[in-house]
Amino acid sequence: MDFFTYQNGELYCEGVPAEKIAREVGTPAYVYSKATLLHHYRQVADAFNPVNATICYSIKSCGNINLCKALAAEGCGFDVTSGGELFRALQAGGDPKKMIYAGVGKTDDEIREALNVGIAAFNIESEEEIENIDAVAGSLGKTAVGALRINPDVDAKTHVKTTTGRKGNKFGVDIDRAEGVFEKYRNLKHLRIGGLHLHIGSPVYEIQPYVDAVTKAIALIDRLTERGHKIEWLDLGGGFAVNYKNPDQALPVTEHAKALLPLLQGKPYRIALEPGRYIVGNAGILLTRVLYRKASGSKQFVIVDAGMNDLIRPTLYESYHFIWPTKPDAANVLDARHEERAPVNGETVDVVGPICESGDFLAKDRPLPHTRRGDLLSVFTAGAYGFAMSSNYNNRPRAPEVLVDGETYKVIRRRETYEDLVAAERM
Ligand SMILES: *Cc1c(COP(=O)(O)O)cnc(C)c1O
Repeated sequence: MDFFTYQNGELYCEGVPAEKIAREVGTPAYVYSKATLLHHYRQVADAFNPVNATICYSIKSCGNINLCKALAAEGCGFDVTSGGELFRALQAGGDPKKMIYAGVGKTDDEIREALNVGIAAFNIESEEEIENIDAVAGSLGKTAVGALRINPDVDAKTHVKTTTGRKGNKFGVDIDRAEGVFEKYRNLKHLRIGGLHLHIGSPVYEIQPYVDAVTKAIALIDRLTERGHKIEWLDLGGGFAVNYKNPDQALPVTEHAKALLPLLQGKPYRIALEPGRYIVGNAGILLTRVLYRKASGSKQFVIVDAGMNDLIRPTLYESYHFIWPTKPDAANVLDARHEERAPVNGETVDVVGPICESGDFLAKDRPLPHTRRGDLLSVFTAGAYGFAMSSNYNNRPRAPEVLVDGETYKVIRRRETYEDLVAAERM
């Protein structure tokens, strides 16, 4: 579900034509829809409201302060994974008491910063980390609170680079070792381990892996409770999938909730969630213009002005993003839901960027309407891990970010300049 629709033959973001934004801010450009962002946040919050879940937006998926502010104003908390993300969440007015700090490699400085601002809890990934957080908290005269991240050994059926809950992944503590860890660290002076955390991967298109993981986690909590440990919360992580291809590709979060709520209702501990992609994925598009066309062998290439530095997901994860002209010829105008279909009088092309890498592509062997130099394309579902993973590779200034709210839009991050590219370097 999103508020990018074809009206009068062209793509609009809410009430603003995509072409107008591209003309005024240039391309490539990320464009977000505030209504779509808030719709998805509210959908998650409402779906898990029966267990009064705390929603901590995974800021790594898309961290622009303006988006985070909009979410914080709705009562959303944050899941941060670095000192930089903590800084960003605070800049956005995030409430430290609704912040969870995750990540396998927290440095001492990062742990100190998090303790000093009073975050709610750390998600802890190893025994060495437990000992270190206890020590760092002690040196500050504070008591830290944490959840042990367990590896439930379930197959989330996602890309090898984004599956995180199987034996042999670097994340968490194997579930069969968790009781031993709780026993060993029962009486730490400066760290109270009061929660359990899991995150099985992303994007997850099926319900069963969540059900399996949560079932295992609940059984573990029961065993821990029997041994006298007080478990105060269970954090289910994120990973809910979004529609990269078609409007009905991913399950609405309400379906996940339907399967999970019966397991969670009436438990004496609190529930937390850390969705990123589900909240922001469908709320963003990447606008890019066709620069050139060329043929090589049997292939047709459409060369656009966005590259892998702007959107790395296709080459990093072999991921699919639906792409379509913002002003297609009449036969190729899409319905309001921009449901993917075969183009009329189209062609099969590789959509590639300007970067000096064969891996620099946005789509391969893709049937598209015929496009020409100057045409504007929309790369859909680019809100999550789009701008957030962009870089200056090939010394390309990063694209601006634009936030549309109804009939108006604001540039919420300006396009970088050449001066920005060298600003941190010393002569
Ligand atoms: C990345 C990550 C998330 C968010 O994943 P999404 O797919 O964006 O929902 C949540 N929790 C942890 C621990 C993560 O690493």
